[in-house]
Amino acid sequence: MKINFNEKKGFICDMDGVIYKGNQILPGVTEFIDWLQQEHKNYLFLTNNSGMTPKELHQKIMRMGLDVPMEHFYTSALATAQFLKQQAPGCSVFAIGEAGLLNALYDAGITMNDVNPDYVVMGEGRTYSLETLTQAVNLVLGGAKLIGANSDVTGPIEGGIAPGCRALVAPVEMATGKKAYFCGKPNPLMMRTGLRILGCHSEEAVVVGDRMDTDIVAGTESGMSTVLVLSGVSTPETVKRFAYQPTMILDGVGDIVTEAESSLPGAENAS
Ligand SMILES: [Mg+2]
Repeated sequence: MKINFNEKKGFICDMDGVIYKGNQILPGVTEFIDWLQQEHKNYLFLTNNSGMTPKELHQKIMRMGLDVPMEHFYTSALATAQFLKQQAPGCSVFAIGEAGLLNALYDAGITMNDVNPDYVVMGEGRTYSLETLTQAVNLVLGGAKLIGANSDVTGPIEGGIAPGCRALVAPVEMATGKKAYFCGKPNPLMMRTGLRILGCHSEEAVVVGDRMDTDIVAGTESGMSTVLVLSGVSTPETVKRFAYQPTMILDGVGDIVTEAESSLPGAENAS
């Protein structure tokens, strides 16, 4: 199926495998971001990475030569803070995670509490230890509800993989017999909040991602058109295994610009 990108108002783009791989910018990204900005599209870069703040993501992208203002980034940490703010304004939490998660919680008016918190909130990162894990287990047994920033099992690092948020929450679930609630993708809540930030209806927006089991499923369940790019983890073979399919499959985000320009009136005569 085809998407007329010129008619779409909003773009929600995943980052890892779409914009960059590690610290390496992917082909066509500069052209894609130029196009978004020139065409006055509303756009949001949405990542399950809970460790980095929007400012840090802005700086990371800046080091790759791209100027994307801070307000265009939305993380699973922000989605988690937003969820808690809505569910229990002014609640307290015991949090295990990095600056991205802690800052998002503070900004949402949530306080830290290691005695009797309303929630135990876990993200991925380096602050995880047997000590914090033991504390989390006992607080959950004492009545705190268990929240995970995202349900990614692993994340790519140089020379291998790192256990993701889902894998780090698992021991707390096993020790307590309680199931965590996860706020990041594929929870459609994160996509719907993204749409609200963009001021778009689902039919006016496109989700661009490299994973069937997070980006494409969340976009589909939120009623948006979806583009799977093959610049990340998915291949045409892996796509076949899923009951849902993306609206379009492209090699990378640069192809969105090519597609958009070729569907402009008069484009056929010009080429
Ligand atoms: Mg990705």
